[in-house]
Amino acid sequence: MIAAKGFAAPAPSVPLQAFSFERREPGPKEVLIDIKYCGVCHSDIHQVRDEWGKGRYPMVPGHEIVGQITKVGSEVTKFAVGDLAGVGCFVDSCRTCPSCQKGLEQYCEVGMVGTYNSKDKQGNPTYGGYSNFITVDEQYTLKVSDKLDLAGVAPLLCAGITTWSPLREWKVGKGHKLAVVGLGGLGHMAVKLAVSLGAEVTVLSTSPSKEQDAKDLGAHHFAVTKDEAQFANLKNSFDFIIDTVSAQHDIASYLQLLKVDGTMILLGIPPVPSPIPSGALVMKRRRLVGSLIGGIKETQEMLDYCAEHGIVSDIEIIPINYINEAYERVLKSDVRYRFVIDMATVKVI
Ligand code: NAP
Ligand code: ZN
Ligand code: ZN
Repeated sequence: MIAAKGFAAPAPSVPLQAFSFERREPGPKEVLIDIKYCGVCHSDIHQVRDEWGKGRYPMVPGHEIVGQITKVGSEVTKFAVGDLAGVGCFVDSCRTCPSCQKGLEQYCEVGMVGTYNSKDKQGNPTYGGYSNFITVDEQYTLKVSDKLDLAGVAPLLCAGITTWSPLREWKVGKGHKLAVVGLGGLGHMAVKLAVSLGAEVTVLSTSPSKEQDAKDLGAHHFAVTKDEAQFANLKNSFDFIIDTVSAQHDIASYLQLLKVDGTMILLGIPPVPSPIPSGALVMKRRRLVGSLIGGIKETQEMLDYCAEHGIVSDIEIIPINYINEAYERVLKSDVRYRFVIDMATVKVI
């Protein structure tokens, strides 16, 4: 076994604290990754605080992992020692159901094995990326380019793929007007990727102070959703809306901003559901859809696209012992635009 260190939530209402545990030695098809950076996703906060239920403790969160391979099993073919690698939101799936066969492991009918807060096929708890090592099957490990800033790549493993997948599924691009609701971790990646794909992007935010940042990220327009006049002006104007909001909000009012046949894509998973009056959809043949991260193949495509186009996340690097304050700042929408833990700071716990 390999001694690992990280930060864990001992229980839902307790701050995260230093935690020592063991990782398995890599099996024949597995790699051992020395984790360099891990992004902080709002989903970590929802799960640490058990807002979605079924939380398993102690919980080592983290599913935006990048690092360097330090060991490979005897049958590994994709990776060699020294390669950069990434791990996203899941580390295994059934591999045989129709979803897995189509490369949509995130929709595995048996259930994907989450990178943390889950159980592996042997029934052991999975521990995530707020730690210095992880052992993963090479099939569920991504290749990471050395052309990009490694810390800025980490959030691509969740925020990047979660926004990329629906943009590709719905073929968003030139000639489309897209609104991004919520300029946080997912939202800022949605802006960067959609702009790069050629869409005309508007950010809809509750934070007036983010206007300049939105423009710097490439957005063409910015509107404050609390400003009723600005909001009313946008009625019937978008082909697509990507909703990344983490808290309860009035989805129906955003639906009114879609044109006829427009599509609203829900990515945020607030713990409290919002009511949807059917008229908001029916009267303009609008569509309301959801999307969950992305499969391994599509995640690799997104990473390769970002390497080619020089796209990374805008980040604030933090030491691991800042994590509880970082959570408080995320909850206040005070993150520009993703916290990323420097895992070198784990060694000094
Ligand atoms: P985040 O960085 O906290 O960003 C969320 C943004 O939503 C905030 O920055 C804020 O932007 C806006 N917001 C917050 N509270 C709001 C409210 N009450 N009303 C309106 N807007 C509000 O979070 P994230 O990491 O991007 O994650 C966002 C959500 O997506 C979370 O629920 C997370 O669990 C979920 N998620 C889903 C997937 C998936 O596969 N579907 C993957 C990852 C995460 P402004 O300041 O601009 O208003
Ligand atoms: Zn995430
Ligand atoms: Zn499956």
